[in-house]
Amino acid sequence: MLQDRFGRTIEYLRLSVTDRCDLRCTYCIPTGFKGFEEPADWLSFDEIERLLGAFARLGTRRVRLTGGEPLLRRHVSDLAARISAIDGIDDLSMSTNATQLRRHAGALRAAGVSRINVSLDTLDRACMQAITGRDSHTQIMDGIMAGKEAGFEPIKINMVAMRGVNEGEIDRMAEFCIEHGFVLRLIEVMPMGATGRNTSYLDLQPIRARLQERYDLVPQAVELGGGPARYLATRDGRTSIGFITPMSQHFCATCNRVRLAVDGTLYLCLGQEQKFEFRPLLRGGASDAELEAAIRAAIELKPQKHEFTERPEKIIRFMAQTGG
Ligand code: SAM
Repeated sequence: MLQDRFGRTIEYLRLSVTDRCDLRCTYCIPTGFKGFEEPADWLSFDEIERLLGAFARLGTRRVRLTGGEPLLRRHVSDLAARISAIDGIDDLSMSTNATQLRRHAGALRAAGVSRINVSLDTLDRACMQAITGRDSHTQIMDGIMAGKEAGFEPIKINMVAMRGVNEGEIDRMAEFCIEHGFVLRLIEVMPMGATGRNTSYLDLQPIRARLQERYDLVPQAVELGGGPARYLATRDGRTSIGFITPMSQHFCATCNRVRLAVDGTLYLCLGQEQKFEFRPLLRGGASDAELEAAIRAAIELKPQKHEFTERPEKIIRFMAQTGG
């Protein structure tokens, strides 16, 4: 079992399979950004499989494929199948923007991806274009429906809530999710990179109270997926709304995760600089025992908490560079 210096058990790895994305959400990758990782520096599928095998031997049970947009990495479902087959990993999921999901849904399910989270900040075509930088509405909505048809369970809709941008759409999104049996998760924007800092933050605490009353929601006792969201559920239990509040009420004390970027850098916290480079070890002939020792050493670096509220200027990486 991997335990950090603060007694937290680390059993969840978020794996970024590319730092590239086909969208340019205003709070994430800056328009015109050219500094993506070189393909020669991307971990290969063999390297990923080997490193994740070492993580699994040390207790990692859950893996989420993310990015950038993970569906842009060629043959990603082959990678998913290889990760599913690793002894000890019993939960494989993906975060996606759904633009390419129609094409990939069946293969991903067959490869063992059981759950997906889809980013969807608005249901309005023009608003979506303004946020994502592309007329992506038809493709995204079709992708989400393909995910539903393919039987991913649950499908969680991630909505970054922004003051003056989509705050007026939260109720409509809740109703859309209730109608389709999706889980809605509202997310506070984090000051990652200039894009994150320049986005109008919306405190979700009052929104939570309002939604609880309007839809007669009750706090959910069971955690959905062991993540940071705190959930309220409809009384019939059919759907829930989660609140991810890194700014107004952080959840660092229960953090159970680390993030492996596409170039083999392990980030120990979204909001701190501590990191560990695995690519030199993987390409320098490290043994399995050396890899495991390096993972233990890396986990020792995990900081106690982020400082998004105290030092919002601190993190210059935007989310897609760390792996969302
Ligand atoms: N492309 C995939 C997707 O759309 O879900 C995975 C990567 S994306 C970077 C992961 C999540 O990070 C998305 O839900 C996105 O909205 C969120 N995100 C990006 N930048 C953020 C920020 N500054 N604050 C909060 N969430 C952010």
